Amino acid sequence: KIGEAKSEHGDTPVQDAERERGVVDAWRREAEALGLSPYFVSRILREVLHYSHRGQEKFRRDGEAPSAARVGFQGVSGAYSESAVEKLFTTRGDTGARPQGYPTFSACVHALERGELDYVLLPVENSICGSVQEVVQLLTSRKLVVVDEEVCTIDHCLAGSKGSSLAAIRTVRSHPIALLQCQRALDELDAVETETWFDTSAAAESVASKDDPSVAAICSSEAAERAGLEILKRDLADHDSNQTRFLLLATKPDTVEINGQPMKTSLVFEAQHRHGALLECLQVFEDHDVNLTRLESRPVPDKPWEYMFLVDFEGHPDEPEVGRALNELQRVTGHVRVLGSYPNRSTAPVPPPRPRPARSATTKSTTPPRTIVDPKLPLSSHGEKHRTSVVSVKDVRIGADTFTLISGPCAIENEAQVRAAATMVHKHGAAILRGGAFKPRSSPYSFQGLGLPGLDMLVEAGKTHGMPVVTEVLRIEDLAGIVERADMLQVGARNMQNFALLRAIGQTKLPVLLKRGMSATIEELLQAAEYVMAGGNHRVVLCERGIRTFETATRATLDVSAIPVLKQRTHLPVIVDPSHAAGVRDLVVPLALASAAAGADGIIVEAHPNPAEALCDKDQALTDELLGELVRGLDPIVTAAGRTWS
Ligand code: PEP
Ligand code: MN
Repeated sequence: KIGEAKSEHGDTPVQDAERERGVVDAWRREAEALGLSPYFVSRILREVLHYSHRGQEKFRRDGEAPSAARVGFQGVSGAYSESAVEKLFTTRGDTGARPQGYPTFSACVHALERGELDYVLLPVENSICGSVQEVVQLLTSRKLVVVDEEVCTIDHCLAGSKGSSLAAIRTVRSHPIALLQCQRALDELDAVETETWFDTSAAAESVASKDDPSVAAICSSEAAERAGLEILKRDLADHDSNQTRFLLLATKPDTVEINGQPMKTSLVFEAQHRHGALLECLQVFEDHDVNLTRLESRPVPDKPWEYMFLVDFEGHPDEPEVGRALNELQRVTGHVRVLGSYPNRSTAPVPPPRPRPARSATTKSTTPPRTIVDPKLPLSSHGEKHRTSVVSVKDVRIGADTFTLISGPCAIENEAQVRAAATMVHKHGAAILRGGAFKPRSSPYSFQGLGLPGLDMLVEAGKTHGMPVVTEVLRIEDLAGIVERADMLQVGARNMQNFALLRAIGQTKLPVLLKRGMSATIEELLQAAEYVMAGGNHRVVLCERGIRTFETATRATLDVSAIPVLKQRTHLPVIVDPSHAAGVRDLVVPLALASAAAGADGIIVEAHPNPAEALCDKDQALTDELLGELVRGLDPIVTAAGRTWS
């Protein structure tokens, strides 16, 4: 009735996630009032909703489904594959489907290619044994289209002829995969040999035909009953949950479209043979918030030691974010082939998280989530879903629920200074060590930095305390030397619109700390991030560091509003540099606290073991004492924001 009502109202989607959440919440509250587990009650409801969606499909079909479809499967009548055909085609509204058994997977595919069948349903993976290699091989080497999927619970039993007993069994016969799934039960039987058979149901029939009490078959209880065998033991598989996922294959896409149903897509791609190529391909899915449900590598025939990757993910290429991901994937890999899109029947709806004990002091950031795709900012803007990126610098995670303190001197001056600075900032909990080796100075007569030898000192000092390092890149010429040494590249305010430098950094694999230019708008900052990201490097952290205004009381004016504005417009992490905004150390602490309260993902502050002698930015360098005060002030704000220090 629900299905009918929804289809009468035109475009009402089968699934209304918002409404479902509301109903689930109401059930949870009621469960709680009744003293039941809200967690399990909501899981049951999710399960009911899942089958309800499937039941509503028949009202949603656009186009003519072949009725009484001819469907090939591997095995004989009574095989698990045959039950899977029945289950799937009942949902598809074709109860007259005719399953036809074939001895092998490839015989099924041959029959499909010859036009003797409309579909074949083949097992592609099992929750205990993993992939069915032969089927994956057929899928990647033949011109097949995936049009649907099904998941069936496999319930093995051990069946022997009438009058036999567990103690009498000497030979167990079954499909090799079924034997694999029941290793433990087989080990428990005394002195048995296993015999592989081409199908579980056929194994049962063969046992029945011989009437030998020493031979048993592993098969479904239906197959055992059909063959007239006695069930000697149930629940034979090594694990409680033994499920097999089947793919429905055809030679062309289904003409039937199911509207308003969560979809899945399968594809294969080949990654180029170079450093980081696979990571780049996977990053595309992450960047577009596409959830992978399966990833598998397969050899590329005729190219020894080269691989293709088989990927399943949630979504359909017609969804804007998925479409963008596929275009991007085309760009970064040599070869992509979409195998098909089909209703998602295998990924159980994700249950709501288990309730955690409430922490009274905790209130999550209240930045209003806005889900926008900005065509001018295709890579940095939020996708359809509101997502946040985490950028890792070695093992330090910036973004999401973390808060990161980056600290160190403005400039690397000598070994002793950097070592003392590193010890000091590490003591106060800094996760990343900063220090300039190439300094952008307003006057050509000021100290310009020690260059690469200075960077080596920074890296050494960082290593002593296990801190990764960030340093500024001024020129493309210096990039290679810096990339070899540093863990994160800083683009300074003066270089935010040095587009050649941004492009060059986009070709590197290091995370980037991109500072806002002192006269740059938020939009221009995001466009600068796009320059880096368009080159393939998506690991960008944005940094607000104060802008030029008419105000002269501070070195720059810290634009606190940029923090929530950026949070609304981009998924990239946002950190704040209160040091260069303030210009004087006394103001650094309050500005840092304001930034954390406004939703920043971290703080970068300058600190010096002896500020009076600093060669650069001495007035704003924090002392040991002030850095301690800063961290003590930030701590309750970080906790209140529901974050943990990284
Ligand atoms: C720095 O971090 O030392 C620096 C020069 O910052 P900015 O580019 O923000 O002025
Ligand atoms: Mn500085």
